[in-house]
Amino acid sequence: MKLLLLGPVGCGKGTQAAIISKNYNIPHISTGEIFRWNVQNNTELGQLAKPYMEKGELVPENLTFKLVSDRLSKEDCKNGFILDGYPRNLEQAKALDQIVQLDKVIMIHITEEIILERLGTRRMCSQCKQPTNIKWLVDGKCEKCGGEVYTREDDKPEVIKNRLEKQAVSKELIEFFENKGIFYTIESTNEVEKTYARIDEVIKK
Ligand SMILES: [Zn+2]
Repeated sequence: MKLLLLGPVGCGKGTQAAIISKNYNIPHISTGEIFRWNVQNNTELGQLAKPYMEKGELVPENLTFKLVSDRLSKEDCKNGFILDGYPRNLEQAKALDQIVQLDKVIMIHITEEIILERLGTRRMCSQCKQPTNIKWLVDGKCEKCGGEVYTREDDKPEVIKNRLEKQAVSKELIEFFENKGIFYTIESTNEVEKTYARIDEVIKK
């Protein structure tokens, strides 16, 4: 089973991909993981990617593609894999299409309200430096140490909304997979198991 999971930050994509990987015994592949592995193992491609990663810049498309195709050619991908978040645009999808035929593309849809609720309730403790959530606070203070909490810049609603807009899956990408008859959308729920059940139903179709 060759799968691609799409969805915005906060939709639980990584968690779901990990469960699918375990249950179907197929590797969970994300570009972040591929980059790190190649840099750690000092591969030829890793050496090329390293300078970009160190500078916090995007790894160029053609290099990313080489890294992904190299990863997909590995033995453990023979029976399938689950791609997490790549390809994320039409150009990447077309390039990938030249080397592999995906079986299913599943987009986890989530309303902006749920994401804002999920990410917007996160807080950081200024004292013990641990993340927490407004639901856990005791008298408005950190439940672990009683320290003052604050909202990280990344967790502010405006910033979350902005990031969501930037990460939105493009219409062209969806159409590309729809035309192949392999595109499915599932609605995310607040429970990991329930969301997984919906994904699993699509996989088994
Ligand atoms: Zn604390």
